[in-house]
Amino acid sequence: MFGASGDLAYQQIFPALQQMILRGNLNVPVIGVAKSGWTLEQLRARARESLTQHGGLNEEAFSKLIAQLQYIDGAYEDPATFESLRQALGDAQLPTHYLAIPPSLFGAVVESLGKSRCARNARVIVEKPFGRDLDSARKLNETLHTVFPESAIFRIDHFLGKEAVENLYFFRFYNTFLEPIWNRNYVESVQITMAETFGIKGRGHVYEETGAIRDVVQNHLLQVVALLAMEPPTGLHAEALHDEQAKVFEMIPPIEAANTVRGQFLGYHDEPGVAADSTVETFAAVRLQIDSWRWQGVPFLIRAGKCLPVDATEVLVRLKKPPVGKLIPEGNYFRFRLGPELALSLGAQVKLPGPELVSMPVELSAVRRDRTEGMAAYERLLTDAMRGDAMLFVREDAVEEAWKMVDPVVGQATPLHIYSPGSWGPPEAERLAQDIGGWDNPRAAS
Ligand code: NDP
Repeated sequence: MFGASGDLAYQQIFPALQQMILRGNLNVPVIGVAKSGWTLEQLRARARESLTQHGGLNEEAFSKLIAQLQYIDGAYEDPATFESLRQALGDAQLPTHYLAIPPSLFGAVVESLGKSRCARNARVIVEKPFGRDLDSARKLNETLHTVFPESAIFRIDHFLGKEAVENLYFFRFYNTFLEPIWNRNYVESVQITMAETFGIKGRGHVYEETGAIRDVVQNHLLQVVALLAMEPPTGLHAEALHDEQAKVFEMIPPIEAANTVRGQFLGYHDEPGVAADSTVETFAAVRLQIDSWRWQGVPFLIRAGKCLPVDATEVLVRLKKPPVGKLIPEGNYFRFRLGPELALSLGAQVKLPGPELVSMPVELSAVRRDRTEGMAAYERLLTDAMRGDAMLFVREDAVEEAWKMVDPVVGQATPLHIYSPGSWGPPEAERLAQDIGGWDNPRAAS
């Protein structure tokens, strides 16, 4: 685990490792690597603190985890670090290298893994973001392939490990009633909102390098688009699913500047690590189209932002109104709540009780689950990678196609609009949704 002293390890990885031990899915040494000048005892203390803060300590599983934990202190620029790793690996079979490190170091660490022979029969898990644009993603793929075959590369998009996101697949392909209407003839529009109430949590140095489009649109939210729009895969396995994901992306033209609105919350410049004149976006709204038979003419809208009124990730699929449409304010819709809790609901019309012959909206709930149910995304993904199951990871072609889509609108390609914290982003974003009845603002978690 490269990056053992980092924030991701603290927030997500140690809790995932403890859970894997609890389920009997981790019985191999875990070697942490970082350059903090720590001892093994310090890493163990950090793991304890991480579990106390995130998810809770289970003394029995934790004692197993710290017995399996080893630590190598050293910089990634120093060949001696990889020599120590080589020795620590001994004759280990199928080692899995997890790069939970700043993305600028991915390439160098992969090359050193190759040179030091640590990559022999090994797998590599690469954190997001995978590149900064199409060009850098291609170069990173090339570097990875000089050392690892594609089948040994696991590109993380932790959204794909979320129970709620996987549920989209099941809802779509395990229900007969959905298929006849899941197309341009019945679907009017699709919108996806990822709203966060918090800002950048003091991590300006990281966020300044990304911005909302690179941080969540290029990866998480386009993956959701793929699941919503794909054709049925030939089977529930990695290649079949990845083929369909890639096909969806190939059919989405690059996003146009006119279909993009970028925003920045008022006060972003006061965050530590943020440049006084930064034009990095903390909000992005884009509108795209999918040039397939199924989706021709159906607008897909994506919106993501920080310091918005609620914490919620939601998909709203609006269906066209029936012929009595003028009598009802809204038609049917599907609402997929992907976080913080999971819910799949259908918006329908019923008669308003009483003498008047008018309808009223109701929401039928197919499933509603608390956020604590199911496996956490990182546990799921690390367990799968250790088993060599790449289904919930992103294949080379999909990652490059996703960059092709967003490349024209990353960075300063479009104007930046300032918005007030606690609002739904800059009013300019309304323009993108004007002809589809406006954005649907998700409710706060109940
Ligand atoms: P941090 O900056 O918190 O941690 C980086 C880690 O890499 C530290 O352990 C650091 O060691 C180590 N490191 C950095 N440079 C070197 C070097 N030259 N030699 C040896 N070790 C080095 O980053 P995060 O943990 O936040 O992020 C890691 C990855 O995970 C990134 O790709 C990020 O995009 C991704 N990610 C992070 C999320 C999060 O919530 N934090 C969420 C999703 C993805 P030291 O502390 O000793 O400097």
